Amino acid sequence: MKASAIFYWWVGCLLLFGCSPKILSHFCTPEDLLRLPEEDKKEKVRISSTCREPLAYAPDTNYLSHAPMRYIRVNFHFINSEDSTHNFNGQEAINYAYNLVANANSDLAQNAKMNLPLGNHTPVLPTNFRYLIAPLPNDPNDKGVYFHYDNEVCYYVHKGKNQNLYSKDVIKKYAVQLDSVVNVFIMSLEASKTDAGGVGVTLGSSIKMAGMYDGTKEFWRYRQILNHEMGHVLSLQHSWTGNDGCEDTPVHTNCWNVSETPPCDSLYSNNVMDYNALQLAWTPCQIGKVHRMMSTLGAPQRKLIAPTWCQFKEVATITIADSIHWDSAKDIEGNIVIKMVAF
Ligand SMILES: [Zn+2]
Repeated sequence: MKASAIFYWWVGCLLLFGCSPKILSHFCTPEDLLRLPEEDKKEKVRISSTCREPLAYAPDTNYLSHAPMRYIRVNFHFINSEDSTHNFNGQEAINYAYNLVANANSDLAQNAKMNLPLGNHTPVLPTNFRYLIAPLPNDPNDKGVYFHYDNEVCYYVHKGKNQNLYSKDVIKKYAVQLDSVVNVFIMSLEASKTDAGGVGVTLGSSIKMAGMYDGTKEFWRYRQILNHEMGHVLSLQHSWTGNDGCEDTPVHTNCWNVSETPPCDSLYSNNVMDYNALQLAWTPCQIGKVHRMMSTLGAPQRKLIAPTWCQFKEVATITIADSIHWDSAKDIEGNIVIKMVAF
């Protein structure tokens, strides 16, 4: 190649390089907003508020290590009659509470694919939260399971003229660590009740459940009630109504189970926040809403989480080697290592 040809080849390379578009990336500032034409400002504001979108808080399956597991502290109260004939007692009750939590956690760990809408492609994400029985921190003998023998608050009446499901009397009387632990009250159904199914209600950050001792007694049958009510504690609403703020939970007729006739022959849900026999699916939006609430400074739900971020863990180091945007608040438990790429 002649010298002049080499020169032009170099000039050509420089021009090509010089004309390549450069993508600059930075977070939006007030100055950016001032520079925008009026008609674009609305859109820019919408984009910059993605830090409140539920999906920004759902675990990213490409970077699971960026979403540490969250543990919600719970304790259990077995409310019994004064003659001790209306609830589990002693070690049997303690085992019941721990097995119930283990079973509910198992559903959280497995998370099922959504039944609805039919033919959906809703992703199945890890829920990344679990329940943890939390005894009193300074009492080595405390198991986080308590017993009360009190005829005044022993019974839970779900319906009828004596209905008391919204009464907080039992909570006011016996709650322990109410500001930092979800208190679950296992109560007895009214003696006259004919339907011995399980029932539950959420009152603030406490849960009342009944029907376990009166019913079939197997702990695993009642894990869905715990998961559903815990969903309410963590800000989730009933999902069949279309008013829960999630696009991935469709409106439907809320069939309890599959049947031979429409609509329940096909349009039955398995979502945890619908009323159905399964209740073992959490959608990405629901998972995101739970984590958003747990990440919100000042939210009562955040105080229910075991503060695992207060203890440094080398093993929780996050290494970032490519472009990552975190559009959410995160609790970090280890170092963040940003790898520089040499050109
Ligand atoms: Zn509910």
